[in-house]
Amino acid sequence: MDFSLPKEVEETRRRAREFALREFLPEIASKYDAEEKYPDGIRKKAFAEGFLNFSNPWGLLVTMEEFCRVDPGLGLSAVVPAFGSEVLLLYGNEEQKRKYLDPVMKGEKISGFAITDSTAGSDVAGIGATLTRKDGKYLLNGQKIFITNGAIADHFYLLARSSPPPSEEKRHRGLTLVIVESRSKGFAATQLKGKLGMRATNTAELTFRDVEVPPGNIIGEEGKGFYIVMTFFNISRIYVAAQSVGIAQGVFDRLLAYIGDLRKRGNPAAEFESTQFLVAELASRIEASRLLTYRAASYLFNFNPDPAATSIAKYFAAETAAYAAGKVLEFMGADGITTDVERFYRDAKITEIWEGTSEIEKLIIARMLLQRGDKK
Ligand SMILES: Cc1cc2nc3c(=O)[nH]c(=O)nc-3n(C[C@H](O)[C@H](O)[C@H](O)COP(=O)(O)OP(=O)(O)OC[C@H]3O[C@@H](n4cnc5c(N)ncnc54)[C@H](O)[C@@H]3O)c2cc1C
Repeated sequence: MDFSLPKEVEETRRRAREFALREFLPEIASKYDAEEKYPDGIRKKAFAEGFLNFSNPWGLLVTMEEFCRVDPGLGLSAVVPAFGSEVLLLYGNEEQKRKYLDPVMKGEKISGFAITDSTAGSDVAGIGATLTRKDGKYLLNGQKIFITNGAIADHFYLLARSSPPPSEEKRHRGLTLVIVESRSKGFAATQLKGKLGMRATNTAELTFRDVEVPPGNIIGEEGKGFYIVMTFFNISRIYVAAQSVGIAQGVFDRLLAYIGDLRKRGNPAAEFESTQFLVAELASRIEASRLLTYRAASYLFNFNPDPAATSIAKYFAAETAAYAAGKVLEFMGADGITTDVERFYRDAKITEIWEGTSEIEKLIIARMLLQRGDKK
């Protein structure tokens, strides 16, 4: 067994770190956070340097990690413009790939993935948006909330109910994933302001009033959207785990630098046993998160995803990010809340919520392991 990543992946990591240190300068990160503005210029530069490359998933994973290590809000914004597009790679037909995937892959268009609505977040099968057939087309009605890229995306991969569920236990049936263009008549997006963290990313509420969706925009089969969404979560959760590892490593970098400063100033706190314990504890948790993330990624990238391993990585890494940010902020006291550790603290919390809350990850882990017994 070899725990090292291939040379070319490490080379991508080096380039990603260099890019982030050059582009995500502290004053820029702080400005985009304060103004809650999407950094489109940074997105374009990151794209031009080849960081958003679905054919190099390990490269994308370590880019996510290194970008979020320098600044989570800018880092994520730079690699999220193709959000959800894996569903077209896996389930899209040739026409859909040509029309919607190619422009995203060329950096010309932005996509979003719209599942959550006011009636359901964790409980995906409980969503309220509806898709009804009329005159050979479909009409989309309803609303989606907390949608990343919501006010900047050209199109969305959106889940709506197209037929009533056969029974309460089978609510996941009758849901359809469709491509919806943001220029459609009856579509409106309102940017959400004042969210806790990840403020450089664009989040919006979307409304749909009799939006026409051509039958050719159904992804996969009608009524099978729930299963596609679950497959997508097996991918996206690994990238959230990588974001979380990056955030945790970022606050840890700042902790080490801070202790170094204390030492230089002869401050005894640098030598306290509790300080040594904090360094050791966080280093161990971060390393464990990284290994869990790489393990889950290795299953996925070898076309053998393991949902339990994915949820373990996402749950543990997200909690580690939030825990590490809290501990470092606490240790730095007033210095913590007046430096960018404050922003990391706010950004870290979001990783425990999106793409499945920690509670949902734990439910999946328990369900999978109890089903599987000791067979794996
Ligand atoms: C910044 C941001 C960006 C987002 N971007 C997107 C996006 O691009 N696309 C998209 O579709 N969604 C997006 N989301 C939504 C996100 O996926 C949901 O917030 C998340 O799935 C949780 O759903 P909820 O907020 O409705 O909380 P709820 O599902 O209402 O959960 C509330 C609380 O109850 C707990 N809970 C829920 N069910 C159970 C259960 N069965 N057992 C135990 N505890 C439970 C949860 O863990 C949580 O603590 C985004 C959210 C944020 C904050």
